[in-house]
Amino acid sequence: MRFTELGIDTRLEQQLAHQGITEPTEIQAHAIPTALAGHDVFAQSKTGSGKTLAFLLPAVQRVMKQKALSKRDPRVLIVAPTRELATQVFSECRALCAGTNIQVCKVLGGENYNDQVKALRRDPHFVVGTPGRIADHVENRSLFLGGLELLIFDEADRMFDLGFEKQLDIINDSADHRQRQTLLFSATLDHTQVEASSRQLLKSPKRIMLSNAH
Ligand code: ADP
Ligand code: MG
Repeated sequence: MRFTELGIDTRLEQQLAHQGITEPTEIQAHAIPTALAGHDVFAQSKTGSGKTLAFLLPAVQRVMKQKALSKRDPRVLIVAPTRELATQVFSECRALCAGTNIQVCKVLGGENYNDQVKALRRDPHFVVGTPGRIADHVENRSLFLGGLELLIFDEADRMFDLGFEKQLDIINDSADHRQRQTLLFSATLDHTQVEASSRQLLKSPKRIMLSNAH
């Protein structure tokens, strides 16, 4: 199967081909068309199965297709549990956006706060970061989520294990539920806290649960 068969642009397919990525993984084959159709998604598949592109591709595709870029940015917010994971998502996102006018900003804990405030003032289309620092910017009004179209929780199980429940609530509450789409990815099946919180974070989600066995 090809990425274009899932609704992905040839331009993005070519970007992936440069990285040696030509065929979608199972989670990508399921999650990409579901996300592109506008559904909320609750997806679970094991580590290394390609979850990052499963949410980045529909996110980039969606923003790429919008002609007039609105003033209500960011359009997409991606929350990841650790600095390392957020940095990885940021790098993959930037690689995909090469050759587009999409601006991506990284907001990590432990890095200079005021530099981030300045970067956020330039209205990036995508913001990628860790829960604590994103929640700080939301509470201090340096990050406004009123125009958010897509909220993505990456490695949600890990974020709950690390005790970020309160920060995720702050982020969730500040983004308008009626107009946003939400994608939640987890490596663990039947994670009690993720299951419970998914009811607040997602509306009528499509569940994509892939077995951890081969
Ligand atoms: P997960 O988040 O599920 O743990 P990642 O998104 O980090 O997995 O992907 C794991 C590795 O697989 C990465 O090195 C990534 O570049 C690679 N990868 C992702 N999708 C594909 C694909 N369709 N074909 C080949 N390699 C892929
Ligand atoms: Mg991952």
